[in-house]
Parts: sequence; structure tokens; C-alpha cells
Amino acid sequence: MGLHSHSRCGWPQPRQSQRVRTIQRRWAISTAIAPQMAASSSGWRIPRAWPGPAPAAMGRAAHPSARMSYDVPVPSLPVVVRQEQRLEWDTPLYRQALTQLDHALELAGVPDFVANRLRAPERALILTLPVRLDDGSYVTFPAYRVQHSSVLGPTKGGIRYDMAVDLGECAALAMWMTWKCALLRLPYGGAKGGVRCNARDLSQAELSRITRRFTAELAPFIGPQLDIPAPDMATNEQTMAWMMDTYSMQKGYAVPEIVTGKPISIGGSVFRHEATGAGVVMVVERACGRLGWDLAAQRCAVQGFGNVGGIAATELHDKGAQVVAVSDISGGVYAAQGLDIPTLHAYVAEHGSLEGFTDGVERITNEVLLELECDILVLAAREDQVTGANAGNLRCKLLVEGANGPTSNEGDRILAERGIPVLPDILTNAGGVTVSYFEWVQDLGRLFWDRDEIRRRLADKMSDAFDRVWNVSHERGISLRDAALVAAIHEVSGALEARGVYP
Ligand code: NAD
Repeated sequence: MGLHSHSRCGWPQPRQSQRVRTIQRRWAISTAIAPQMAASSSGWRIPRAWPGPAPAAMGRAAHPSARMSYDVPVPSLPVVVRQEQRLEWDTPLYRQALTQLDHALELAGVPDFVANRLRAPERALILTLPVRLDDGSYVTFPAYRVQHSSVLGPTKGGIRYDMAVDLGECAALAMWMTWKCALLRLPYGGAKGGVRCNARDLSQAELSRITRRFTAELAPFIGPQLDIPAPDMATNEQTMAWMMDTYSMQKGYAVPEIVTGKPISIGGSVFRHEATGAGVVMVVERACGRLGWDLAAQRCAVQGFGNVGGIAATELHDKGAQVVAVSDISGGVYAAQGLDIPTLHAYVAEHGSLEGFTDGVERITNEVLLELECDILVLAAREDQVTGANAGNLRCKLLVEGANGPTSNEGDRILAERGIPVLPDILTNAGGVTVSYFEWVQDLGRLFWDRDEIRRRLADKMSDAFDRVWNVSHERGISLRDAALVAAIHEVSGALEARGVYP
């Protein structure tokens, strides 16, 4: 079959002339994945006719009575040389999350069974989504959902649409979500998911079909008491509305509490859209207080001008700080005397990005933005931005992780040596999941709070978490990241020790 690389999803796709065969194949793929994964994760019975690997090959010892017989002739296949088995989510980003965890576990002093349980996600799902594009062709998109820990409650985490989405990325982000929820004392564990696609190249109709198919495939694994998705990179309120509608259609009644970050008209919460960026600045303000700095006198640079970075830049600007540079995927803009943030927002709303904005600013690259001389550098784009390669060149006095995992372990080590404090992601960007929690609670109770109430409750939660992290860091002489992880691990560990391991 002729295959060609499709620009909007991450693997080769059949040509349009193969449409009928593609539809048949997509049925085979989408029905094949579920039993195979379920067999290895939930213990469902494997159909006798299932021609996949025997149970032993899926990581479980085969009981003699479970041996399957195959009547079909077995074709001769090339010999597969088995190498040491790495688990499927074991990628560099997952290693980064694991290295942080292992380091914090040494400081946390929790029982071995707790440490072992937390080193791997509870459940990891790989899907393939057949989707019709507007030109009539079909593309199959890889999609993932990973649930790290359900010890404290349902799992919770974003859905991202990005070409870099893979199982390891979702597993790492799911683990970070567990720590974030635990640190904020929310009754949730961590999850993350996404579709490997280029959302910028897809129409709204195509995104709707991807989202609806993804939700339908996820339906057995998500639920208001099981796993509650939210927006992340390149997904938004509309994406959540499609997810809520698809799930509700299957149930037969409206289930607003299945997702958070949805439009207010269907049970979304006021202030959810602003929550992550506003929470970032609440933490920055608290840190300035402890450092003896006046926030209004600080010069700030913000990488990423989407939901988190755009709102953080606005909040910093509104509090009187000078935002000298912002950037998005198209590059950055710099003005030594401070940028006019509302004008930049208006430009992005009209043009889709900062690309082409030149009015009274100097165009800079993202690399240059990271190395600008400033007081506060907010990373609000994506993971792995400050690494061993550039951490030595940073000229900020405080690094703020609005994004998840933007600093590599090597970058972290270099910054610690240079005495640049890092406000860690699991604390700093927790405003989003905190207001998501408020949204879920409001939906379950069918009772809604106003903006001031939510902002006040968020500020209380962020301040409480910040103070605990700061105090642990100073009492024990450890970094803010280690302190945040230790505090979070203690929350999860307490619950796991009380519950024990089933059976
Ligand atoms: P978004 O899609 O709204 O915005 C991302 C921004 O980063 C965009 O401006 C994009 O152009 C820019 N960007 C992407 N790649 C870039 C690159 N290589 N260099 C510079 N800029 C780049 O996403 P978001 O919701 O703002 O999420 C940003 C980060 O914050 C992600 O790591 C996400 O996981 C994390 N986060 C988001 C939330 C939330 O509520 N949205 C909550 C917690 C954490």
C-alpha cells in the first residue's frame, strides 16, 4: 500500500485512493487495541480467537488452561531479537520526571512499597483515531491517556494537541500532575493525554471530529469519579465543550463534571481561563515578598504568549512590573522600556500569533529571550527550554516555571550552582488545576461561585502551598523544587500507607 507522510499527524498515512481499505483497517485497529490493552491492564478475558501474542508475551505468566490454539497456518516470520525490555513510557522526559522523583524520595524517607508504586503510572492507554479531513481523505492520529495515581481520588490532567505528544511525555506530565494536586491538597491524582497532531493546520470541523472520536474511545476510562480531562497546549474551552457533549451524548444526559475548563454556558467556572497565569503571578508576588523585592520594580520576560504566558504577562503588567519581552512559537518581541501588553493581545487575537508585530519593538528569537538580562524570567511555553546548553547563560535573578517541565535536570543543577532560585512548576502553575477543582465541585453541587470568591479561594490555596514549600526549603536547606516534591510525596505517601496495596 502506498504510504505518504502527512503533515498534520505524526506517522505515514495511506493515500486517498486506498480510502475503503483504510476504513476497514481503521476498524481493525480501533477494535484491536482495546482488548489487547485491557488484557494486560484490567484482567478482562482475552477472546479465544484473538490472534495476538499469548498472555505470557504481554507480561503475565500463562496459565496452562489459558493456552490458545491457532487453526490458521502460521506464516514464517523474521526472527525478532529480544533486547532488554524497557517499559513503553520510558523516554527522556519520563526519565527527567523519574530522576526528580528519585532524588526527592531520598529526602522524603517513605516506605519502599510507596516509592515503587509511584515510579510508574497506574494505567497507560494508546489509541489510534481514524478521522475524516475536510478534503474527504482519512488520517489516523496517534492518541494517548496516562493515569499516574488514583490514591487520593480521580485522576485529573490536560489534553494537548501537539506533534511531540507521545506516551513518555504523557506519563511524565501525569506524574507531575500527581505531585501538583497533592501539593495543593486537592483530592486528585495526576493524568495527562493528547493527540499527536498539528492543531494549527486543522480546521475547527477537523478538530471537532478528532476530539469527539478521542472522547468516544476514552469513554470507558474517564468519568467524573474516574478521570477528568482539562485543556492544555492547543486545546481550549471549545475542545472541552466537544468532549463534554460527546460524553453526555453517550450517557443520555448532561455531564458537565466530566471535564473542566469548559465554557461557562455549560457549567464552566468563571476565572478558570485566567487561573493558571494569575496563579503564576500570585506565587511570584509571594516569592518577591520573601525575597524582599517590590514586584512593581521588576523587569520581566515571558516565554510563551498563550493561555498561561499571555495571562501572566497581563497580570505582571497590571501589577506595575515592566514586561520587557514576550514570545511565542513565531519568535519574540523586546522593548527596554516595557511592552504594551494589551496591544500585543489585540494583535494576537487578530493575527493568531506575534508574527509580524514590529510596532516600537525589537524582534528577538526565543533563544535570545531566555538569555536577556532581567529580574524575573517566566517560562510559559513548553518543556525542556532551559538545559545544560543554556542555563549558564541565563541572566535573570528568579526563574519561574509557568509551563510543565521547562527546566531539564542538568539545567536545574547549573542554576542551583549559580544561585538562581527556581519557582517549580508543580507549585507555580497549579492555579489551573486548583480552579478546575473548584469548577468540578461547583458542577457536582450545581451551585456556582462568583469571580471574587474564586480568586480569593485560589489566592488562599496558592499562598498556603507556597508557604509550605518555602518553609521546607529553608528548614531543610533544599531547593524549592525538592521541597515541593517532598511535600507532595508526603501527601500521597500518607494516603497510600493508610490504604495499603490491594489486595
Ligand atoms: P497554549 O497553547 O495556550 O500556549 C503555548 C504558547 O507557547 C503559545 O504562545 C505558543 O506559540 C508558545 N510556544 C510553543 N512552542 C514554543 C517554543 N518552542 N518557543 C516559544 N514559544 C512556544 O498553552 P498553555 O495552556 O499556555 O500551556 C503552556 C504550558 O503551560 C504547557 O507546558 C502546559 O502544560 C502548561 N500548563 C498549562 C495550564 C493551563 O491551564 N493552560 C496549566 C498548567 C500548566
